[in-house]
Amino acid sequence: MKRFVVLGILFTAGTLSISAAALQQAPAAPRVVEVEKLHDNLYMMRGGGGNSAVFITAKGVVVVDTKNPGWGAPLLEKIKSVTDRPVTMIINTHTHGDHVSGNVEFPATVEVVTHENTAKNMETMRPPTGITPAPGAPVNIFKENGGRGLPKRTFKDTMTLGSGNDRIDLYYYGRGHTNGDAFIVFPALRVMHAGDIFSGKNVPLLDAVNGGSGIEIGRTLAKAADTKGVDRIITGHSTVMTVADLKEYAQFNNDFAAAVQAAKKAGRTPDDTATSWKIPAQYKGYAEPQAARLRANVQVVWDETK
Ligand SMILES: [Zn+2]
Repeated sequence: MKRFVVLGILFTAGTLSISAAALQQAPAAPRVVEVEKLHDNLYMMRGGGGNSAVFITAKGVVVVDTKNPGWGAPLLEKIKSVTDRPVTMIINTHTHGDHVSGNVEFPATVEVVTHENTAKNMETMRPPTGITPAPGAPVNIFKENGGRGLPKRTFKDTMTLGSGNDRIDLYYYGRGHTNGDAFIVFPALRVMHAGDIFSGKNVPLLDAVNGGSGIEIGRTLAKAADTKGVDRIITGHSTVMTVADLKEYAQFNNDFAAAVQAAKKAGRTPDDTATSWKIPAQYKGYAEPQAARLRANVQVVWDETK
């Protein structure tokens, strides 16, 4: 009986703190999009979700990723501060809500391009592995907007858009963060946008629900690092990095998968494996993972290991 009372109090306290947090966020904090100029015709725009790339071509502006719900309009405003040209195309790196939700705030005439698996994932917008949607977050923002912002043009392995200095090359190298991670290359500028398969130097989100793979992610990243004609990488959520950083990140993920597979072979448990794993010493500057993320990733690799 006593235990039920204690549980009841805990539950109430938890509910109160959640609503207090929601109330504190309620008076819409200003949505500030920060601009980092990479070239005269290429900007990285940060804040409100994943990093966006803004590429200004002769025919119009191409935007890679459009951030969280409510951040499409501030992103569009910020784009107007760097060019008079209209946005003509959105490319989404993958399906997650912090990269695609702003699509619905762009004019309906804007063409949306993704990998074919991402187009399928965006129809359902399932919450990623290990992520509980925030209270009040849209369940499926595209359904709620009558299908606006969904991709109509897709690719399977590679696709080229535009030509000359305006050329964009899209690559798919296999499963990783999801099963539809596109690498977007601006060859004239030697810059790649990698999206969240390289969100930064950290333990990745392995979204098995949307086809991600803890065993294949390292291989996929290594192929991406071999892409010709690239010097700089726009990450999903961190700073601009180098091809050497991407190569290292591929190895980091291969090492993680190998460690989990060795633990499984040795008859250990996923819990024990997760609690004893540490970032290997050679990976300097990598962010410490949250325990839940680490545990979820161990499980993803464990389940993929037969
Ligand atoms: Zn993501």
